[in-house]
Amino acid sequence: MTNRYWVASFVVFSCLVGILDASAGDADPRYRACVRTCEATGCVGQRCFPHCNFSADGAIDGPWYTQEPLYLQWKQWDCQSDCRYYCMVNREKERDALGDRPAKYHGKWPFKRVYGIQEPASVAFSALNLAMHFHGWLSFFILLYYKLPLKQNKKPYYEFSTLWHIYELLSLNSWFWSAVFHSRDVDLTEKLDYSSAVALLGYSLILAILRTLNVRDEAARVMVAAPLLAFVITHILYLNFYKLDYGWNMKVCVVMGVAQLLIWAIWAGMTRHPSRRKLWVVVFGGGLAMLLEIYDFPPYYGFLDAHSLWHATTVPLTYIWWSFIRDDAEFQTTNILKKGRP
Ligand SMILES: [Zn+2]
Repeated sequence: MTNRYWVASFVVFSCLVGILDASAGDADPRYRACVRTCEATGCVGQRCFPHCNFSADGAIDGPWYTQEPLYLQWKQWDCQSDCRYYCMVNREKERDALGDRPAKYHGKWPFKRVYGIQEPASVAFSALNLAMHFHGWLSFFILLYYKLPLKQNKKPYYEFSTLWHIYELLSLNSWFWSAVFHSRDVDLTEKLDYSSAVALLGYSLILAILRTLNVRDEAARVMVAAPLLAFVITHILYLNFYKLDYGWNMKVCVVMGVAQLLIWAIWAGMTRHPSRRKLWVVVFGGGLAMLLEIYDFPPYYGFLDAHSLWHATTVPLTYIWWSFIRDDAEFQTTNILKKGRP
């Protein structure tokens, strides 16, 4: 029962965060006026942007995104992004001089760009996560195929190996798009990042159920996976082709995230698995890290915000997580071989 309250309060909290997110910065009339002027003149104060000269390329009827070649779309994106960025920087200087706290603009804190990268800290940590996943998976692969005994058909005894390989692909995909999205936030990169994250979360929930219940039968696996897969695919289609609803997506992600943490936690409490302590660390670490997403704070020195720290905490957790997966492969293989040779 307490677990249910926990999930409910998480969801309520994330809704509140979602509402507070309706960025104060870009609602500010002075910021809006600055962006409007910039998009018309191509300048913020003394600083002018070459990307904003697209009107000189010749106007074509209809909306620009259906008519103009791709490079013009890029120019328009660049122009809008430059205008927003420098208007934000100016506005934040004014606010700072008045002693005001930083405000969010278009759902994001005012970050300092480095070589055109919008959120350098988040990009760096996403890349680290990617590397950590690859390292973890590689050592898992080596253990499975080179260190542990194999069946006669050269396949591993560990029955969850393929599921973890797929998990790895989805993880690499998700961290790759996370790095891209934090480098450059446009409609496309945002959708790719969100969709990849939802796919990974949904799949790892399925994996949590299959592994903790030790579902080995193919038909039973399909039975468990099918409804969840159907939901996740529908949700991704909804986000991409109907509405990118941040509040709803946050709820879906929190529920899927909390559900798998609870499943692993309950299992860790009941099982005699030799590596259950590693699982405890990942579950508690993961839960604490989630708080960073909820108690969102502005970036220190324009770089380290709550979201980037959240990405940072998952780096060591990923290391422990893959270490648990390796232990699990070893543990199960030993068990199967013991049973096979009484
Ligand atoms: Zn992120």
